[in-house]
Amino acid sequence: MSGIVVVIPAAGTGSRFGGSLPKQFQPLAGKPLIQHVIERFLIDENVTRVIVPVAQMLLASVKNSERVMFIAGGETRQQSVMRGVEQAGDAELIAVHDAARPLFSSETFHAVVAAAREVGAALPVIPVADTIHMMNGDATIAQTLDRTMLAAAQTPQCFRAEILREVLERAQRESLEGTDEAGLAARFGHVVKGVPGDPRNLKITVPEDLAIAESYLQQWSASS
Ligand code: C5P
Repeated sequence: MSGIVVVIPAAGTGSRFGGSLPKQFQPLAGKPLIQHVIERFLIDENVTRVIVPVAQMLLASVKNSERVMFIAGGETRQQSVMRGVEQAGDAELIAVHDAARPLFSSETFHAVVAAAREVGAALPVIPVADTIHMMNGDATIAQTLDRTMLAAAQTPQCFRAEILREVLERAQRESLEGTDEAGLAARFGHVVKGVPGDPRNLKITVPEDLAIAESYLQQWSASS
């Protein structure tokens, strides 16, 4: 058993965010967003390595350290995660985390790690407050989903290493692209446990989210 490796896919261009700098490199409280994410994982001494797939052209401007390794990402998020997993060595557990979520708590991370050790795979989820409809192409409602059955997925998601490897290899063989690994694992028949997520663990998507994240960070540093 040899610790937890964290993979943070960060090789996207962040087209929804706008601007030339991808959102994961935007400044947040004085440093790039991705740096907040990396440092938050390094606090945990069970994390033996943080692997960050980035766009090839950015590799020259980042620096590896003892526990942080930048690598070239792939064509898609999933391929970037695969490349990271290839570098995970003999890790017992592998966590995958969105580069754009700087506000996850240690409690959330510990909860997904414990649940993954127990059942094999876990993710933080939050209840869905809005009613969710499936829509037709002409913007009319096709079907209304039962909100009590729905949950919004967050990260970090954590897996026994052999499960994540198998899931990613099978998805590649079957040409399936998932938006997260937990969904793929469930699709392939693995038990994936939801643990309580945190609404503050938001995914920075539009520029306004940075101001919200900054105010949460201030609240956290004031209370710790
Ligand atoms: O575009 P989207 O927000 O779905 O991307 C999710 C995450 O995957 C982002 O952190 C992005 O940087 C990353 N990604 C990647 N390699 C790609 C495309 C996206 O690592 N080729």
